[in-house]
Formats: sequence, structure tokens, C-alpha cells
Amino acid sequence: MNHTKSEEIYNEALEHIVGGVNSPSRSYKAVGGGAPVVMERGKGAYFYDVDGNRYIDYLAAYGPIITGFGHPHIAQAISHAAETGVLFGTPTQHEVNFAKMLKEAIPSLDKVRFTNSGTEAVMTTVRVARAYTGRTKIIKFAGCYHGHFDQVLVAAGSGPATLGSPDSAGVPVAVATEVITVPFNNKEEFQLAMEKWGDEIAAILIEPIVGNFGMVMPNPGFLEYVHDIAKEKGAITIHDEVITAFRFHYGAAQDLLGLKPDLTAMGKIIGGGLPIGAYGGKKEIMDTVAPLGPAYQAGTMAGNPASMLAGIACLEVLKQPGIYEELDRLGGILENGLLEAAKKHGVTITINRIKGALSVYFTNEKVENYEQAEKSDGEMFGRFFKLMLEKGINLAPSKYEAWFLTTEHKEEDIIETIAAAEYAFSQLALN
Ligand code: PMP
Repeated sequence: MNHTKSEEIYNEALEHIVGGVNSPSRSYKAVGGGAPVVMERGKGAYFYDVDGNRYIDYLAAYGPIITGFGHPHIAQAISHAAETGVLFGTPTQHEVNFAKMLKEAIPSLDKVRFTNSGTEAVMTTVRVARAYTGRTKIIKFAGCYHGHFDQVLVAAGSGPATLGSPDSAGVPVAVATEVITVPFNNKEEFQLAMEKWGDEIAAILIEPIVGNFGMVMPNPGFLEYVHDIAKEKGAITIHDEVITAFRFHYGAAQDLLGLKPDLTAMGKIIGGGLPIGAYGGKKEIMDTVAPLGPAYQAGTMAGNPASMLAGIACLEVLKQPGIYEELDRLGGILENGLLEAAKKHGVTITINRIKGALSVYFTNEKVENYEQAEKSDGEMFGRFFKLMLEKGINLAPSKYEAWFLTTEHKEEDIIETIAAAEYAFSQLALN
């Protein structure tokens, strides 16, 4: 496969854009380096790079593109916004329509607010929880990603009762010491942290189904336990559903799990591919937000008509009967095919799959927490990633990212993907 133009554009990008990319995960640093493929256009489950190569895509732009590229219903909504005004700085009917749609799908939302990104949405839920409780500390789980604001770029301390330290240059130590990080799916460590800090905890920040060290389900009873202790100690539960909302069914992961968090943050899918975030939850907590209450959050672009209309159109597509069943069916074929292909060539992998989202770990252990996910062989994944790319399969360039199916993937795409994987595994088995 020829990547000459991609390389040229990337080299030019390096001169003008930091690291050549506008988000670090787009670089191929985690898969052994090299010029990332530069994309030109996408249609359905495929995209085409600047050298004219076609790929079956499983990146889905890190999640939002669940209906594939250029979906006609979403394209029409975006054109309508382009023609009738993309931004007014006033309220619109679209915001109300979309808020009502989200509330109907996710019962824990009494009120919502739209933002421009998942980061903004999660960041605001943390502020609101602090404003509401008058406390400052938060607990989060190791390996979960919640955006790039200060409080969530914090590394775990040496144990559950230890405060965090900055995980990025520029994050003040004073901020990091407000954050405690505990392992996912570990009741004991969570309990220890709550015993020590419980009365100071404003919020527990949770990816109810983890999407950031691959796809990881909560063990039975784990999140119920977290919710119970949080309630007992007067801490707010925040579900970060930026990846999970509308991923597995028409609604949020919390509904599948039978949980009702105090606040929820969303993003990705709900924008139909345009920039978006949203947060919402219990009325009495949401009413802490300006202009009703003292917690400030704002945005020039927040709730803009283009994102609202694209989001509404995307949810309209997802509401059609059979959509999630088909994602699940194709996901199952892909999972089985990958497992068989790996076995045939003696390559050890573990797959976690939840409907149309799955992750492939190069380890023989089950993966229920970040420590186990870390054991996936990164060098092996890097080689697998590049072999798949050469065969026209685009994955995320990181061993931690999930593969996402879209409503546009067909069974023949899955078969082609499994054949490519079989080739990749055969190559990995050679050395
Ligand atoms: N929360 C979760 C669970 C995410 O996966 C992400 C992005 N990958 C974010 C928050 C941040 O969203 P954004 O990139 O839109 O700021």
C-alpha cells in the first residue's frame, strides 16, 4: 500500500501543528511511530486516504461515528443548519427538542445542558458536584479517561488512601491532591478510600462500562456498591457516559445496569459527528448551575443548531428497530472470527466485547481492570495494527482503544476484516 501523500502531508503538518496532530492519540507513537494515514473522505463504513487507499474503519473517530460516514439523514440535518444559520447565540427550539429526546431515553436526566465536548461536560459535572456538596475531593478509577481538564489528569497514589499526583506537566500539585484514584472492579480499595476520605468526597466519577482501557464491564455488584457507599457518605455519583451513551442501546449504560447516577456526562455519539457534550441529572443538583445557581458554566458555541440537528438526526437513526441487535450480531461474528484466527496461528488474545464494541488484548488473562489491560503486549499490538492497516483495516493506534462497529458495516466487511486478521496473526506467529 502506497502512503506517499500521507507522509508528505504529515511532514508538512509537523512544521505547523504541534506533533503534526490535533489530538495526541492520532499520532502513531504508541504503535511504533511513522506517519499516520491522512484521510480524505469517508462513506459508510469505509474511508479513503489521500493516496486513494480504502479502509474498513473501526476507529469511528474514537466513537462518535456510529452511523458511519456521510449518513444521508445526518448530512441533510447538517446542510439544513448550514443554510439556515449555524449559530445565533440565542435559544432555539432545536435545543429543547434535543433535551427532551435525551431525557426520554435516559430517565436519570431531569435537566440537561449542552457543551462542546465531552471534556467540558465532565469538567462541569465535577464543578457542579463540588458546588452542591461544598466538598472538593473526587474519586476516579485507574485507567479511565475523562477528558483533559486538570482534575482528571491525575495519576494514582501508591494506594487507595493516598492522594494523587499530576499526570501531565502543568497540572498543579494542589489540584492533584484533591483526587483519589482506585482500581476499577475492586470493592475493597474503594471502601478503604471512602473510609479515609468519605466525608470530603464531592463526587465519584465513573465510566459505568469502561471504554478507555478497552471495553470492560463492571463486575456484578461493584457499581451498586459504589453507589450505595457514595449515597451513605453524601457524595455525588457522576456517570461519564461520553463513550457509552447510545453505544449499546437507545439510552445510556446506566439503564442497562439498572443504576441512577446523580449526574451524567455525555458526548461523542449524541453529536452525530459534530462537536458536542452534554451533562444532566437530578433537578436539585442541576439547579446549582448559572443562571439559576452559583456554579458557572457557559459556551459561545454550546447548543449550536448544527450540533443539535446532527445529534437529533443521529438519534433518529439509532431509534430504528433492530439497529443494536445487528451491531451485536456483527460484533459476535467479528469476535469469534478473530479468536479463531488467532488460535489457528497460536497467537494469544483476549477479547472483551459489548455488542458492537470490542477490544483485543494481546494477553491470555481476563481483563477487568487497568492493571490487567496494561499487560496486553503493546509491541505485538503495534505490529498487528500496521499489518491490519496494510490490509485495509483501520484500527485506533493504541492497544487501549476499542474497535467500534457502525450501522454501515456489513457482514462482508466483517469477513474481510477476519481474513486480514488471520494474515496479521500469521505474520505475528513468524517471530
Ligand atoms: N470521557 C470519556 C469516557 C471519554 O472517552 C472521552 C474522550 N475519549 C472524554 C470524556 C473526553 O471527551 P472529548 O474528547 O469530547 O473532550
